[in-house]
Amino acid sequence: MPTIGVLALQGDTAEHLRALADLSVTAVPVRRPTELEKVDGIVIPGGESTTIGKLLDAFELFTPLRERIAAGMPAYGSCAGMIMLASEVLDGRPDQRVLSAVDMTVRRNAFGRQVDSFETDVVLDGIPGGPFRTVFIRAPWAERVGPGVEVVGRISGGAANGKIVAVRAGCVMATAFHPEVTGDLRIHRAFVELVRHA
Ligand code: GLN
Repeated sequence: MPTIGVLALQGDTAEHLRALADLSVTAVPVRRPTELEKVDGIVIPGGESTTIGKLLDAFELFTPLRERIAAGMPAYGSCAGMIMLASEVLDGRPDQRVLSAVDMTVRRNAFGRQVDSFETDVVLDGIPGGPFRTVFIRAPWAERVGPGVEVVGRISGGAANGKIVAVRAGCVMATAFHPEVTGDLRIHRAFVELVRHA
């Protein structure tokens, strides 16, 4: 059984740890380089991406994390985690730092402000069992994805119709929404499978 780490610097770490525990996976918080060394995959939770970037630096995790993902360690990022995995950020803060794990451009706070948070159903490629109830909280979307990046889900309907909100590139998955708050474990299960077969 693999051990999956959840980055525990800022954001909703506890919810991801709980979702993974519900799947009977060994899930551990990661705050130190020595903890990162022991995991087979990493979840980067939602929160605030500029802050997560700064804390990654302060905890001397930025470079080791970037290097491990580049070397093939599976990673899954939700919301701010999706921003961290991107190669380029639009509407980012001047001091925004990203891990460049996925060749994609994301727009930060793309759907508007906190009050514009919303839920909708999204059909996800490769996730069986019907549409996924998605929760968006000051979420990004992907405005451009590179040739090696698979679009897994898009918004259907409304002003954001067609916007990319779930992607996969090799061992890296990212969603603009928060599956850890819905109790639907299908995305976490898909990530566990990815880690198992990496
Ligand atoms: N808007 C946040 C950011 O820019 C992300 C919000 C979230 O993770 N729920 O990092």
